[in-house]
Amino acid sequence: MQTVEKTHPKLQELKTSLLEINNIESAASVLYWDQATYMPPSGAAARGRQMATLHQIAHEKFIDPTIGQLLEDLRDYEASLPAESDAASLIRVSRHEYERAVRVPGNFVTKFSTHRSECYGAWAEARSENNFATVQPYLEKTLELSREMANFFPGYEHIADPLIDEVDYGMKASALRELFAQLRQKLVPIVEAITAQPPADDSCLHQTFSEAQQLAFSLKVIEQLGYDFQRGRQDKTLHPFMTNFSINDVRITTRVYENDLSQALFSTIHETGHAFYEQGINPEYEGTPLATGTSMGLHESQSRLWENMVGRSRGFWHYFYPQLQSTFPTQLADVPLETFYRAINKVGRSLIRTDADEVTYNLHVMIRFDLELQLLEGSLEVRDLPDAWNERYRSDLGIVPPSDDIGVLQDVHWYTATIGGMFQCYTLGNLISAQIFDAALSARPQIPQQIEQGNFTTLHDWLKSQIYQHGRKYTAPELIERVTGSSLSIDPFVCYIENKYGELYQYS
Ligand code: ZN
Repeated sequence: MQTVEKTHPKLQELKTSLLEINNIESAASVLYWDQATYMPPSGAAARGRQMATLHQIAHEKFIDPTIGQLLEDLRDYEASLPAESDAASLIRVSRHEYERAVRVPGNFVTKFSTHRSECYGAWAEARSENNFATVQPYLEKTLELSREMANFFPGYEHIADPLIDEVDYGMKASALRELFAQLRQKLVPIVEAITAQPPADDSCLHQTFSEAQQLAFSLKVIEQLGYDFQRGRQDKTLHPFMTNFSINDVRITTRVYENDLSQALFSTIHETGHAFYEQGINPEYEGTPLATGTSMGLHESQSRLWENMVGRSRGFWHYFYPQLQSTFPTQLADVPLETFYRAINKVGRSLIRTDADEVTYNLHVMIRFDLELQLLEGSLEVRDLPDAWNERYRSDLGIVPPSDDIGVLQDVHWYTATIGGMFQCYTLGNLISAQIFDAALSARPQIPQQIEQGNFTTLHDWLKSQIYQHGRKYTAPELIERVTGSSLSIDPFVCYIENKYGELYQYS
C-alpha cells in the first residue's frame, strides 16, 4: 500500500542522514550479536569499548542541529500530507525520537552508561554470593539516576511515565496500575484453584534429549511457521534474544538444555515471533526509524502469541507431536499426546519469572512493576526492597524465596538499566497477544483448523498485513484500536486463561 506522495528534497536529505545513523547502530548490533554468540570471553572489555564508541557516534550524529533543522524545514510539508502516509509517519516518528534524544545531556548519557556497567558487575557478584547488601549502594545510585532521567521530561503525571513512554509510548503508570490491579484480582483465585489440585506430571519433558536433535526439530517447526532463513539464522546463546541489522537480516538465538525439552523449543518459537514482526516490515522503511516494532509491549505480544496461543495449543501439537515422537522415540513413543500437552502447560507457584507458566507469569511481572513505582515515588527504600519483594511473593504467589539470588536478585533489568520503564511490557505483551489473537480468529475463523493441519500461512499473513508491515507508523494504542476495534483490555486474556485452564484443571 504505497501512498503516492510528492517527495520533498529535504526529506531525501533526512533519509540519507538517518540511514547513515542506522548503519552505525546496526554495526553495533552485529558486534553485540557476536559477543552474545561466538566471541571468546576475554574479548568483552574491547567489545564494550567498540560498541560504546559506535553508540556515541550514532547519538552525536542524531542530535546534530542539522537533523533538527531538517525536521523544522519539513513541518509544512508534513502538515500537507495525510497523517497515515509513509512520509508524514517518517517525519513524525523521527521528530519524536529527536526531541527525546536532545533532552538528555551528553554527560548524563556517559555517566549513566559507566554506572550501568559497574552496577551490572556488582549485581553479577551479589547474585553469585547471594548478598544483596553489596549491590545496594549501586542500586541506590541507579534509582537517583532514573529519577534524574525522568526529570529531563517535566510535566509528567507520575515519575515513571517518561521511562515507560520511551518503550511503550502512550502508556501511563496510572492506567497500567489500574489495568494490572484488575488482572491480579482475576488471576489470584485462578492460581489458588489450580494449585489446590495435584500438579500435572511433566516428567516426560525431563528425560535426556540430544542437543542436535532438539535444534533440528525447532528449526523444522519455525520454518513451517514461516521464518525466512534467507533473511535470518539461529545461533546458541546464554539468554535468548532476537536482533536485526536490516529487514533482510533478522536473527534469533536459543539455549538448549539436554534435560529439559521445553527450553529450546519454546524459546525458539518465542524469538521467532519477535523475528516475524521485524521480517514483516514494509521494505520501503529500511534504514529509517519506522523499521522496527512499534513498542516493547506490542513486540512482546507477537512473541507470546506464537509461543503460547499457537505453540502451547492442543491443535499445534496434534500436528507436531507425532513428528516429535519420531524424533525422540525412546523418550516419547509411550507418552500420550494429552500427557505431553498437560506437561507443557503445567501451572505452579514458582519463584523464577522466566520459568513461570502462562497463568502465574503476570503475577511475577506485576510485583516488579509495583515495587519499581514505589521506589521511584520514594515510598520504598532500596534497603527495604528484599523484604518488600518477599512479602509480595508471599501474598501474590503464596511462596517466599528462601534467598535473594532467586528473589530480588534474579532479573538483570534494574541492575543494568533504569528502575522503571521495562517490566510493564511483559504483561502488556500477554494482554495484547490475546486481544490480537481473538481479532485474528474473528477475521479468519479457519485458523484453528489450519493450525491442526500444520498450516500457519493464514495467521502469519493476517498478522503481517495488520501489524508487522506498519513498523512504527502507528503507536501501540492506535494499532490495537485499529486491529481489534477496541482499546486495550484484560478481558480477552482472562477469557483465554479461563477457557484453556478451566478445561485442563476443571475448576470453577
Ligand atoms: Zn520476548
